[in-house]
Amino acid sequence: MLDEVLRQIEQRDRFVLTSHARPDGDAVGSALACCQILRCMGKEAQVVLRDGVPRIYRPLPYADQVIQTDQVNGNYQAAIVLECDSIQRTRLSGLEDRFLISIDHHLSGRPFAHVNWIDPQAVATAEMVYRLAREAGVKISPQIATCLYTAVLTDTGSFMFEGTNEHTFALARELVQAGADPAACARSVYFGHSTAKMRLLGAALCNLRQEGEMAWICVTQEQMRQCRAREEDCEGLVNYVLSIQEVEVAAFFRELPDGRYRVSLRSKGGLNVAAVAEQFGGGGHECASGCAVDGPLSAATDLVLSLLRSRPSDK
Ligand code: 5GP
Repeated sequence: MLDEVLRQIEQRDRFVLTSHARPDGDAVGSALACCQILRCMGKEAQVVLRDGVPRIYRPLPYADQVIQTDQVNGNYQAAIVLECDSIQRTRLSGLEDRFLISIDHHLSGRPFAHVNWIDPQAVATAEMVYRLAREAGVKISPQIATCLYTAVLTDTGSFMFEGTNEHTFALARELVQAGADPAACARSVYFGHSTAKMRLLGAALCNLRQEGEMAWICVTQEQMRQCRAREEDCEGLVNYVLSIQEVEVAAFFRELPDGRYRVSLRSKGGLNVAAVAEQFGGGGHECASGCAVDGPLSAATDLVLSLLRSRPSDK
């Protein structure tokens, strides 16, 4: 399928690249790297993201060129959708009638585009973008390497998640050899948070609930207002819950402005949380998934937690 993606790219000159709303490190890093690769191939390319680039990824090369909009205009000949399983998750309009290429590594990835390159074996979509560059004969510049390294770093949970293996480290090694600075990348991602995010974390952890191997936290719109937190400040809060020794499955519930709840699920590997998220129209990976459910909070937690309880561990 990589051959087909490259063939379709070679036939065209102007591309728009995007990923899902509320982009994470793999979404931003893969899109920025792929954009640079296309430009090295002599193409015109532009990254468009519904929610722009979150604060911790703004130091990435060319992040300042990303267009934040909810409408894709322009006479692009194709849209490359990275790390995303549908047009809907981009929350962009204007993609519907375009030629679509999907590059994704999600287990729950769906073939929604004209060309779908989905590889759940890839540790991050960035790994696939790296392969694309190699196949296209594009030299990995320090800027491309920095974007790809940051994507791999974050999507593997700092090389901690299941699926991290010798190939992951071989990839990281090649990216560092190409010019990625691991300490600088880590500094931006792990020491680049806002004070508001830390206040929100404190508020959420104060109300941590635990039931055996399962624990969860919740954040309301009111708490977000009090902490002056933004939507992106919620990213990664669930990981603090999973860091408790006896916890095998962690959940994070965030109230949305419309009263629904966005849910982040994490597992240490014993339970496939993608299967749970899919029950509610979401998706993701075995160890990290997300979905949205109706409120109020008690209904949202009852619904998701009862499904988590009823699923025997795969261990
Ligand atoms: P997070 O909890 O950090 O938002 O997402 C964890 C993982 O699940 C990420 O790989 C993300 O792309 C995926 N994910 C989160 N929400 C959804 C959703 O609503 N639909 C799908 N298909 N995947 C999701």
